[in-house]
Amino acid sequence: MNKFVYMFDEGNSEKKELLGGKGANLAEMTRIGLPVPYGFTISTEACNSYYQEGKSISTEIELQVLDALHNLEEKTGKKLGDPINPLLVSVRSGAVFSMPGMMDTVLNLGMNDETVEGMARLTTNPRFAYDSYRRFIQMFSNVVLNIDSFYFEQFLEEVREEKGYSSDPEMTAENWQEVIKGYKEIVKKHTKSIFPENPKDQLFLSIKAVFDSWNNQRAIVYRRLHKIPDHLGTAVNIQSMVFGNMGNDSGTGVAFTRNPSTGESKLYGEYLINAQGEDVVAGIRTPNPIATLRNEMPEVYQQFVETCHLLEKHYQDMQDIEFTVERGKLFILQTRTGKRTAQAAIRIAVELVEEQIIGKKEAILRVDPDQLNQLLHRRIDDSYERKPLTKGLPASPGAATGKVVFDADEAEALAKDGERIILVRPETTPDDIHGIVAAQATITSRGGMTSHAAVVARGMGKACICGCESLDIDLKLKQFKVGDIIVNQGDIVTIDGSTGEIMFGEVPMIEPQLSDEFQLLLAWADGERKLGVRANADNPEDAKKALEFGAGGIGLCRTEHMFMDAARIPIVQEMILAETYEEREAALNKLLPMQQEDFEGIFEAMQGNPVTIRLLDPPLHEFLPDKEELLVEVTKLQMTESNFKELKDKEQLLRKVRQLHEFNPMLGHRGCRLGMIHPEIYVMQAKAIFYAIANVKEKGIDVKPEIMIPLVGHVNELKEMRQLVINAGLQVMEETGQEDDYLIGTMIEVPRAALTADQIAGEADFFSFGTNDLTQTTFGYSRDDAEGKFLQAYIQNKVLPENPFASLDQEGVGKLIETGIKLGRQTKPGLKMGVCGEHGGEKSSIQFCHDAGLDYVSCSPYRVPLARLAAAQAAIKSEQKQDVNKFQAQM
Ligand code: ADP
Ligand code: MG
Ligand code: MG
Repeated sequence: MNKFVYMFDEGNSEKKELLGGKGANLAEMTRIGLPVPYGFTISTEACNSYYQEGKSISTEIELQVLDALHNLEEKTGKKLGDPINPLLVSVRSGAVFSMPGMMDTVLNLGMNDETVEGMARLTTNPRFAYDSYRRFIQMFSNVVLNIDSFYFEQFLEEVREEKGYSSDPEMTAENWQEVIKGYKEIVKKHTKSIFPENPKDQLFLSIKAVFDSWNNQRAIVYRRLHKIPDHLGTAVNIQSMVFGNMGNDSGTGVAFTRNPSTGESKLYGEYLINAQGEDVVAGIRTPNPIATLRNEMPEVYQQFVETCHLLEKHYQDMQDIEFTVERGKLFILQTRTGKRTAQAAIRIAVELVEEQIIGKKEAILRVDPDQLNQLLHRRIDDSYERKPLTKGLPASPGAATGKVVFDADEAEALAKDGERIILVRPETTPDDIHGIVAAQATITSRGGMTSHAAVVARGMGKACICGCESLDIDLKLKQFKVGDIIVNQGDIVTIDGSTGEIMFGEVPMIEPQLSDEFQLLLAWADGERKLGVRANADNPEDAKKALEFGAGGIGLCRTEHMFMDAARIPIVQEMILAETYEEREAALNKLLPMQQEDFEGIFEAMQGNPVTIRLLDPPLHEFLPDKEELLVEVTKLQMTESNFKELKDKEQLLRKVRQLHEFNPMLGHRGCRLGMIHPEIYVMQAKAIFYAIANVKEKGIDVKPEIMIPLVGHVNELKEMRQLVINAGLQVMEETGQEDDYLIGTMIEVPRAALTADQIAGEADFFSFGTNDLTQTTFGYSRDDAEGKFLQAYIQNKVLPENPFASLDQEGVGKLIETGIKLGRQTKPGLKMGVCGEHGGEKSSIQFCHDAGLDYVSCSPYRVPLARLAAAQAAIKSEQKQDVNKFQAQM
């Protein structure tokens, strides 16, 4: 015989899988002697059996339920349906992971025309009895019979009005009797049958309804969102009722053992006197803060505080507790680990260590790295009451205030003058990058959360809202409309990138900072982690930020962003357009000191920590104007015939743009292929690096440069580029008379590089797996096209489990990385290897990097704290796994 039903004193908190979270904790609290109304739990296995039997409760389960019911009746001395001393129960759903709103609770089950009289006599409180009965009819009808509560509410209001009452407490026992009659009519009208008076029917119908709710739309959506497997099923808890609505010595409430928003160690909660169950959360009456319970019911309050301490100690974490007081006696109805903000999570974890309730490793595991994003951006003061103009997609968190500007160049110019700017565009292209850099935040009316603007903004830790369709942008008039509100260029708006809200004017903000507790937790994490954490940074400001957030170096400095600067773009174009070697040299000579200055700034900022600089990577056409736009301009000039020189220039530019046009830029002439064909570009960059090293060292600052060749697919490419860098270095060192230590390495970002890593390692001092491109080249997806066109559908239809650009595809891309590591270290055992790319800041990818034996991950500066924490969690988890294995081996 299978056991499907467990009395509360048969379970414990370990049995969540079987009893659901609520059931397991009710059992645990019963076990440790807390005042929990007695009851039993029908297991998740029963739910699965219900579905296997074609949605029917098997006789076996039915008999076990009746047995448990009998047991409960014995224990309470009451009987379900007994007109003299009736047992009333609640029916509560409870899945393994709590799923709020899956099924509403049915209270006061067992009420009918007979038992209500019994209750009235027993309590000598007919008003209470009839009130409970009408509540039961309303809840049962709503939850089990699917009749909208609205009909009942409406009827109740009619009765109240007719009597001239303004609130429920004015209703008398007779009034409630009248309501009950009306309620039954409503049920008859909607179900074409009478309200089920038999308590056992009521019970089994409710159990069925809980099982059915496992597959309602809300529950399915919630499970998908939180990746909860469908096969778990839900448990059902049947519990004898206690009544918070028995008068002014009764009540009900909810409390957190610590403040879930700040983490402060102080009871946080609310209660209502003379109320039942859902009244507190439903928001019909405004509850009182828990602290006033001390005055109203001093003894109960004292007992409750003690219970809270006990539960927190027992579960070793902050708890969310539901309680009811019946005629001065306290009952605990639920406890669970309380949900909390990132700030609270950190503070609670650290303080629990200080209180010696948990250890440091456990504290590190308690904070979800994904949540930390909330903390590392400026945000709107929580106490401010918002009145948003409109709302778009929350594409990059953080808040920002500034003047609205509609053009990237203008945004850059105004920002140079010290203005705070919010860039508003219908959409953004790589041409707008300087505008995004200069602005505090970006808003687009088109494009999703993975659009260019969003990716760039997140990388820089700037707020961004995308796809705000309600913005009607007029670029000519320099204004946008929302309905009939017009916002002009220069007007001030504030945005919240974590909610997508756009507000008019300025609102109070809080600066991001690593709180003392956060620093402490990260220091503990640093003590545990084996992985190094570096940052991707392209300029001194980002480098400083990275260091402040605890990066141990720069894992990727992209030199092309330095080329994008408005002052430099014309020189870069000159270089690209050069027809002769001399012309190109001249342009490169102008660029060299600019690059050198950037490198000096970054080296200085990093104070002797390693800096990996990648030589130019994107195809050259990205630095030239758009072909279509140019064509329009040329055509216009041809028609006016006025400006001959300009026409000739533009025509030449157009020729070059056409010539550089690529059918598939992602797989085209880029990366080291540029250096192979135009070595002078890489020579210039290498020299700029060596001059910068010399200057910075001159100031007495240590420099650890690592020069990185992108997109190598064949060892011969690296061989040639390596020699080129060495020669440039020798030349500069001869000039400066210094001797520099430096490394030359490569990115592994095409499959062939990973597969021939043994050969490539022979020419490399380090590897950096460029997982963004490696994902593109392994899947054969172009990221922008994939995310814009089919990836969403793939994920929705479960063709792919996740977006491989966000979370590393361990089976495919991961296998190439593992191969690269193995082959690379075959040739050079200690070869230093890391990962750069967005995956370096994502927790499951970080876990993979740890397990694969990489030396470091590199991510955007704002994700560095997250990566430090995630790396520590990875180390602790694999240590725990080893301990388990060792233990099992000994058995
Ligand atoms: P949810 O999962 O939505 O929180 P619960 O099953 O916890 O639903 O029930 C909601 C509320 O109903 C509880 O907080 C409690 O106030 C009330 N309740 C549930 N069971 C009982 C009971 N046996 N006696 C008194 N009140 C109850
Ligand atoms: Mg609850
Ligand atoms: Mg790349």
